[in-house]
Amino acid sequence: MKTLQELTRPNIWKLKPYSSARDEYKGVTASVFLDANENPYNLPHNRYPDPMQWELKTQLSKIKKVSPEHIFLGNGSDEAIDLVFRAFCEPGKDNVVAIDPTYGMYQVCADVNDVEYRKVLLDGNFQFSADKLLAATDEHTKLIFLCSPNNPTGNDLLRAEIEKLIREFEGLVILDEAYSDFSEAPSFLEELDQYPNLIVLQTFSKAWGCAAIRLGMAFASVEIIGILNKIKYPYNVNQLTQQQAISMLHKYYEIECWVRTLKEERDYLEKEFEQLSCTVKIYPSDANFFLAKVTDAVKIYNYLVGEGIIVRNRNSIALCGNCLRVTVGTRVENNTLLDALKKYQG
Ligand SMILES: *Cc1c(COP(=O)(O)O)cnc(C)c1O
Repeated sequence: MKTLQELTRPNIWKLKPYSSARDEYKGVTASVFLDANENPYNLPHNRYPDPMQWELKTQLSKIKKVSPEHIFLGNGSDEAIDLVFRAFCEPGKDNVVAIDPTYGMYQVCADVNDVEYRKVLLDGNFQFSADKLLAATDEHTKLIFLCSPNNPTGNDLLRAEIEKLIREFEGLVILDEAYSDFSEAPSFLEELDQYPNLIVLQTFSKAWGCAAIRLGMAFASVEIIGILNKIKYPYNVNQLTQQQAISMLHKYYEIECWVRTLKEERDYLEKEFEQLSCTVKIYPSDANFFLAKVTDAVKIYNYLVGEGIIVRNRNSIALCGNCLRVTVGTRVENNTLLDALKKYQG
């Protein structure tokens, strides 16, 4: 790996971050707060939230088995994705490499930040080759994006290739594990200590059932987390979100229960889909959605919209011609979808 200083934009490396009132006074013994120009009325929403979300991180660290200094929290994973561009990629000069197809936000953030986005096509099994990704890099490649289980293909990427890529790439590897709760493959969080150039992304939006509160997590070395914290908005995770996340962490057993149920429903839905006359192929999934190749994706998508059922049309995505991406719902929702597709006349 190059040094973190070599990988960081010079202006960010030397940046002195904004210091908020809540940064400067961190003690808990004071009882009169006249330092932040807050309104003394309208408790509890009148006070600025903890800019570093320490209580939430402390609770989270018990479940994730990663200490709080290795955790960055943001307004969705999308904030962390944007921040890695802003921290490490010089606009108009640096580039990033990513698998294709994958989650669309990596390219959008690259485009917003005027950073060249180099795509390397997955193979017929939706797997990647570390050598092919490395061959697409040059001395200006700062980041490589991987997503496992991948969106929209649904499959885990091969662990040996992920490990090889992290070991051999000189820059930072962003591994998006938004769906790893639904996979049998272990998270790379367990190996964070071994890989100083790895950033693991997770989110409250999927298994945790909290897409509305907008909370994403990045796990990495203390030094990388320090850079992300330096450039984030001071109060990027609001108080309501921090409180709701803490209350979710207290009912971890319920989340495990949802995940078990959704995996069973995924297997049920995939098996039923195999029987439909409009199905050409079902791709195996390690996530809470799956990709189905159908006889005519556009026609079936529009038919389902007419029935009040929305799936994701991935027809125009690389390697996904005539594919629909189906999120696993409740048994009732899944049966509503299946009944509509049984009635469909191609
Ligand atoms: C849904 C999803 C996310 C979640 O993003 P948030 O901003 O945390 O809601 C991240 N990565 C991938 C690949 C996703 O599909």
